[in-house]
Amino acid sequence: MLTTVVGSYPAKMQKPESIKEKLRATLGSYDSFQPAMEQAVKDQVNAGIDLISDGQVRGNMLEIFAGSIPGMYVEDNKPFINGKITPLSHSICVNDIKRALATAKKISSKFKTDLTLFDGDVFQENFKGIKGIITGPTTLTLSSMIEGFYDKDKKEEVVIDLAWVLKKEAEYLDNAGVAVIQIDEPFLSTGMADLKVARKAVEIISKNLTVPLAMHVCGDLNEIWGELLRFKVDILDGEFAGQSKNLQILENTNLRGKKIGLGCVDNKTDIVESKEQVAEILNKGIESVGKDNIIADPDCGMRMRTREAAFSKLKVMVETVKWLS
Ligand SMILES: [Zn+2]
Repeated sequence: MLTTVVGSYPAKMQKPESIKEKLRATLGSYDSFQPAMEQAVKDQVNAGIDLISDGQVRGNMLEIFAGSIPGMYVEDNKPFINGKITPLSHSICVNDIKRALATAKKISSKFKTDLTLFDGDVFQENFKGIKGIITGPTTLTLSSMIEGFYDKDKKEEVVIDLAWVLKKEAEYLDNAGVAVIQIDEPFLSTGMADLKVARKAVEIISKNLTVPLAMHVCGDLNEIWGELLRFKVDILDGEFAGQSKNLQILENTNLRGKKIGLGCVDNKTDIVESKEQVAEILNKGIESVGKDNIIADPDCGMRMRTREAAFSKLKVMVETVKWLS
């Protein structure tokens, strides 16, 4: 069984320390987030994670995207829409992905850009790679305040315009050598989302990608599981440790060829689970859908945790997966 993360990792910005860094700060080229990103990657690699992320250290999942997309802006950490949403002329995430992959390769030569996640329809053994992460069009729309251009009652137009912008970002990531592209859509379980429009938007992003597509949805999935299985994605990732009710929906489920990202450590507490606790969740998942259909990960991003807790949670997850294999 392979292991991954959902995305974010605790970030600590670092002030310039060395003479070289201070000089770069004076010239305006010092990147205070880079040390946090490198730390996030090192921790994931050292914990034994197979499919890592860049740690999403530059801000929360909304501001990273809303701060760069034409037609949107961020104020007090909140996203706003004030104009026509139009495609990006540059990638938002590719530079970090390239740096993150280079950092991972320095620690472990097993990390490669040419390794594919799937070997036929099973997970490739000995896989080590990186995923590119996109905040989903529905989540971005529903968490933004519409101030102009779009009608507040016609959110569908915003979702679809954002889908085309994010499709372009997905292409940038695909070309940069990511092994998977993941769309984060936590808002799909809130009851606020139009799931038909959300599915159409994900389908726009999915077209012509050369790598598998994953979708992460957290919260209670009981009401929407049937709908989620209709999305054109290869991996459906959910929260199963903090939402144990979700484990029931895996029983007798027809996966329609999809794999499951099984959240098996809780991202909402710093208390680190025991191997037995993680194994209990993984075993329930295995009983329902089979070991070959599961990739293990935490419930959600770990941005709010302490670095010690985040690292320990990843480590116990990897150890449990090895223990069960
Ligand atoms: Zn989540």
